[in-house]
Amino acid sequence: MMLGPPGAGKGTQARQLRRKWDIPHISTGAMLREAVAAGTPLGRAVAGIMESGGLINDELITRVVTERLAQPDTKVGFLLDGFPRTIPQAESLDRIVSDRAPLIIIDIILTEAEVIRRLASRMVCSECGANAVGEGSRCIDCGGPLVPRADDREQVVLNRLKVYREQTEPLVEYYGKRPTYCRIDGARLPDDVTEEIITAVESQT
Ligand code: ADP
Ligand code: ZN
Repeated sequence: MMLGPPGAGKGTQARQLRRKWDIPHISTGAMLREAVAAGTPLGRAVAGIMESGGLINDELITRVVTERLAQPDTKVGFLLDGFPRTIPQAESLDRIVSDRAPLIIIDIILTEAEVIRRLASRMVCSECGANAVGEGSRCIDCGGPLVPRADDREQVVLNRLKVYREQTEPLVEYYGKRPTYCRIDGARLPDDVTEEIITAVESQT
């Protein structure tokens, strides 16, 4: 699972690693954005909260993740991005995976100043949600048009950072002493970060 502040590169890295290891990338943010776009009951329930940068309630998101992790494609392993974000979510995840191989925690470290700088200029694909790479105006994965992400507006970013500090950062303490906890420097170039993660994870397995 990927830990770290918004903009640390969790989604970008998970997309690289999914190719490398051929395991599913499970992004709660992407799942929720799809539900909002499709106007499902879940999407309608969470749209306002996501827009403001708050967290949707633990019970609801835990149900979404539990269902996803029950799918057979996760048997070989999975990359979890965006969950857990609170201590109760982490406790639920420990229960969900208690009969599987140990959870490896990839904590991507980035300063708040760098988060704000990155998110202010981030563009994402409006079709597949990938983060834009390079200078082009189209997604390199699917050719879709690039747009700013709705919750990357400055006020919302500041709120997401506050939520991260208050609710998600305590997970560093929760996981920090496990032998499977890996700290990764997120300020390096994306390919270097990927290499560092691969080295850290492969030394675990
Ligand atoms: P970020 O780029 O900030 O890591 P994500 O794309 O992971 O954002 O998630 C976007 C939004 O979806 C969050 O700000 C939050 O409102 C909601 N969300 C995603 N995952 C969770 C979760 N595990 N618990 C509660 N809310 C979540
Ligand atoms: Zn795309």
